[in-house]
Amino acid sequence: MKKETYDVIIVGGGITGASLLYTLTRYTDIKRILLLEKYDDLATLNSNSRNNAQTLHFGDIETNYSFEEAARIKNEAERVLRYFKMQEPKARNGAIKKCQKMVLGIGSEEIEFLDELYKTRLKKLFPSSMKLERKDIARLEPYVVKKRQKDEEIGALLSKTGYMVDFGKMTHMFASQAESEGGDRVRVLFNARVMGMEKKGSEYRVYTPKNEYFSRFVVFATGSYSLYFAKSIGIDKNLSILSVGGGFYTSKRVLKGKVYRVQKGGIPFAAVHGDPDIADKNITRFGPTVNIPPMLEKKHLNTVIDYIKTFDFDMPTMVSLEKILFNKDIKKIIANNIGYGIPVIGKYSFLKKEASRIVPSLKYGNLKLHGDIGGIRPQMIDENKHSLVLGAGKIKHDGVIFNITPSPGASSCLANSLKDMQYISDYLGEEFNKSKYEAELGKISA
Ligand SMILES: Cc1cc2nc3c(=O)[nH]c(=O)nc-3n(C[C@H](O)[C@H](O)[C@H](O)COP(=O)(O)OP(=O)(O)OC[C@H]3O[C@@H](n4cnc5c(N)ncnc54)[C@H](O)[C@@H]3O)c2cc1C
Repeated sequence: MKKETYDVIIVGGGITGASLLYTLTRYTDIKRILLLEKYDDLATLNSNSRNNAQTLHFGDIETNYSFEEAARIKNEAERVLRYFKMQEPKARNGAIKKCQKMVLGIGSEEIEFLDELYKTRLKKLFPSSMKLERKDIARLEPYVVKKRQKDEEIGALLSKTGYMVDFGKMTHMFASQAESEGGDRVRVLFNARVMGMEKKGSEYRVYTPKNEYFSRFVVFATGSYSLYFAKSIGIDKNLSILSVGGGFYTSKRVLKGKVYRVQKGGIPFAAVHGDPDIADKNITRFGPTVNIPPMLEKKHLNTVIDYIKTFDFDMPTMVSLEKILFNKDIKKIIANNIGYGIPVIGKYSFLKKEASRIVPSLKYGNLKLHGDIGGIRPQMIDENKHSLVLGAGKIKHDGVIFNITPSPGASSCLANSLKDMQYISDYLGEEFNKSKYEAELGKISA
């Protein structure tokens, strides 16, 4: 059998892997790039639009972010917008749509929090955002006010220029553009489940059940599996994964745009919000719910064993887990979310505690649970700090990168692939076309 050698192998065909494939093809001269995906299509897991909340996160309605985090995510999301602006309208294939975004405060404490946020963050980072009172909310999102108790105080912050994105379609756009632009330089293989990797001299041997591939550089863009692979070659940065599952309910269309709720800092995953569905204008989605399944991929029971291998059942992890799960706010979220996936009781409880807080007129019969959609956010546990890590994780090690990508990993895909491209080019002694990149996707800070 002829030895197959590449310069870069990317493992995983979600938006992280496809974005890197596109970036390397378009902005470097790297000759041989292989993407290996274990299923028979791209974006079947978290990057599929059915499984995530389809929000292009900018940091304006994410009240759990600090000022610095909001500024960073704004910069990262702008690359996605620039990418879409480069495409002919037909090529965008409905993968991005404008929609208003609102963060709703209920009660005086939340409204005061939003006032403060408006002064300290939004006016500076998002000057076109607006503060809304009840009457403004009623005009922009009538169902948020309809049938709400008259004496319940509400206020909101509005971003007129929000976007929803079909990250699954975007994944396909990246890969097909890389394949057509790269020609023989690029290869994408499906049904190629990477089992492991080992160093052989100056190369890595990456193997699937049927084949083996050699490469000077390997990137794991395998979502929750990236930490599993890092640990499988002995890299343990004192990190573990808390799998935070998220599912969705739908109703007939009751919202024009996205309506988020106030969320306190320190919690890295979003509270339940209401969103239009990019693929179906007749419905509104409510979610994601929060549960803690011991697996790496939703509905794939065969990933339980690998989850157990990824989770360190040692003292620092258990202490961290205890601290995380007993944090007042996280405990409340988990307690509320218990059972949301159960038919009848779960739906009733979800309606009462979540959906009707956003749309008070919703009734039990209006909601439909979709057990088949949603994904798993791989939230990293920092065993040294005994806390959850906000945002994505990246482990770099001697010619390998492991990308761990909870939310808002899809919004950050191009910022993430830029970092990978810079590191890979340096490692391989290749140039990347900085001026072309900056002209198309925005300035690269030093
Ligand atoms: C409920 C929920 C809501 C979210 N909402 C948003 C949102 O509104 N906005 C946002 O920006 N982000 C959101 N996210 C996060 C976002 O979906 C993810 O960050 C992003 O999709 C991660 O992409 P990825 O390519 O890294 O991972 P994935 O999409 O999970 O892809 C990983 C790929 O690796 C492949 N793979 C795994 N193991 C192997 C192997 N051994 N060999 C070969 N291939 C392998 C898998 O098959 C898969 O195709 C949400 C996530 C969830 C779960």
